[in-house]
Amino acid sequence: MLVTGGARGIGAATAKRFASEGAAVVVADFDEGAAQETAAEIGGQAVRCDVTRREDVEAAVETAVSRGGSLDVLVTCAGIIRDNLLFKMTDDDWDAVIDTHLKGTFFAVRAAQKQMVEQKSGKIVLISSTSALGNRGQTNYSAAKAGLQGMTKTLAIELGPYNVNVNCVAPGFIATAMTQQTADRIGVPFEQFMQAAAEQVPLRRVGQPEDVAGTIAYLCSDDAAYVSGQVVYVAGGPRT
Ligand code: NDP
Repeated sequence: MLVTGGARGIGAATAKRFASEGAAVVVADFDEGAAQETAAEIGGQAVRCDVTRREDVEAAVETAVSRGGSLDVLVTCAGIIRDNLLFKMTDDDWDAVIDTHLKGTFFAVRAAQKQMVEQKSGKIVLISSTSALGNRGQTNYSAAKAGLQGMTKTLAIELGPYNVNVNCVAPGFIATAMTQQTADRIGVPFEQFMQAAAEQVPLRRVGQPEDVAGTIAYLCSDDAAYVSGQVVYVAGGPRT
């Protein structure tokens, strides 16, 4: 299996979950050192991969195919935020977020489907967000995350005839470097930021990367063999 953005956060938890179930895992990330650390922990393989670069992504898919002998699972976790209110959002803020999430995922699924269509099997999980429903300061990110939901449905239609399931998970607040970055930006201690976030969640806690990894594992399991084109919110309940 191949997980982009697998060095930390949700991607790393997903890599660990799949490795614990016996998968040959390739951890692809911008940050090669961190990818190597995660891969070493789970007996996987690290590849340096900037998902905005087609050649990097195609090479990562090739590595996964040669390591596993096939490509059973692709999970696209690579992601960044460049939050700002619209009037302060720069062209670079827009391009970086759209390129990483939308173009990066496009490159990954296009490269992966080649192998999956040939082998007539595969599972693909894209990562959206509750921000797809709208979030102040995230014009770029919410547009990208809503786009990934549309991409999921189209891919499920195109790849279904080849026995490839394509689904999407849309996490709410998950405690990772990304949410820490938001806390740092607004100058609130992370613990306090998480507590405030938890109060807005029906289950009264923030999510952990393992919560998302578990849902991804389910979507890639035989139990979800007839589930495709779906968006599963992993957010501790509906928005309040
Ligand atoms: P993290 O920042 O912990 O992990 C994201 C990883 O992606 C990092 O290792 C990062 O590397 C890597 N990455 C960034 N840009 C690229 C790139 N161009 N090519 C390859 N790798 C890249 O974030 P999360 O685990 O929280 O996020 C994972 C996914 O989940 C993202 O798509 C995010 O948008 C989504 N998500 C997260 C939520 C949350 O609350 N945490 C909520 C909803 C969705 P580096 O650190 O070097 O930049």
